[in-house]
Amino acid sequence: MTHLPQTPSFRLDGKRALVTGASRGIGLGCAAALAQAGASVTLVARSEDALTSVKMAFDKGGYKADMLALDVTDTGNMQAALSAAGPFDILVNNAGLARHSLTVDTTEENFDAVTDINIKAAYFVAQQVARDLIKAGKPGSMINMSSQMGHVGGQMRSVYCATKFAVEGMTKAMAIEMGEHNIRVNTICPTFVNTDLAKQTLSKPELKAWVLSKIQLGRIAEVEDLMGPVVFLASDASAMITGTHLLIDGGWTAE
Ligand code: NAP
Repeated sequence: MTHLPQTPSFRLDGKRALVTGASRGIGLGCAAALAQAGASVTLVARSEDALTSVKMAFDKGGYKADMLALDVTDTGNMQAALSAAGPFDILVNNAGLARHSLTVDTTEENFDAVTDINIKAAYFVAQQVARDLIKAGKPGSMINMSSQMGHVGGQMRSVYCATKFAVEGMTKAMAIEMGEHNIRVNTICPTFVNTDLAKQTLSKPELKAWVLSKIQLGRIAEVEDLMGPVVFLASDASAMITGTHLLIDGGWTAE
């Protein structure tokens, strides 16, 4: 009789996940998805009130979660907090910022604010999670939240694109170093998703029309569109996938 291969598990029971920017938007969706797949999730954001409300929803749903109120750009404090709470089997390195402007109008303050969180904090959060996994001798899956704008240019997005292309680069370089530790490193690259961050674009009819003209599936993405992909990349179902990206762009970059 033929031996039937079994699909590797998409479940995350017994795993610990860290999700930054978990109080709303994409991070909240990813945190819920991981918890619904069985993981115990540590929720990170700056606002303690917002995290408390999210944790109550997790508790009510019977999902496992705890919270860490911290600013990921405060490197020393972040490192101490994560190292005390870790090791984490799964990282969703998601906290990020966008302040869109024409290149000729970009201020140093906005450049610094966006690069500080999207590149520097993302780098050092990944470093801390990797250090703790390696020290514990555990495998892991680290998922950096990139964007379709880590693969193409976009109007008024020279700073944002620079940060997301940087996330793509550091993901590949980290994956090369971490393969020997069985720590996988990948990115998720969404198109426009209905969140607070995207409001600065989607609230303007002419910009929303531009976005819809580029998404082949003809709609803005919802947080739910990222929930299956994040579970896939976190789980054994993607055990041979590292150093690459998963575009969730409704076909934006197909053209
Ligand atoms: P969002 O709705 O603005 O949520 C941002 C989250 O990050 C919040 O939980 C926020 O909570 C937290 N956060 C912000 N600064 C922080 C800091 N310094 N330290 C810790 N937590 C911080 O954003 P989003 O749309 O969900 O975007 C999440 C990620 O997806 C970002 O990396 C973004 O670049 C990427 N992305 C978004 C889209 C989109 O269309 N929305 C598309 C592609 C990629 P607090 O304010 O309480 O800290």
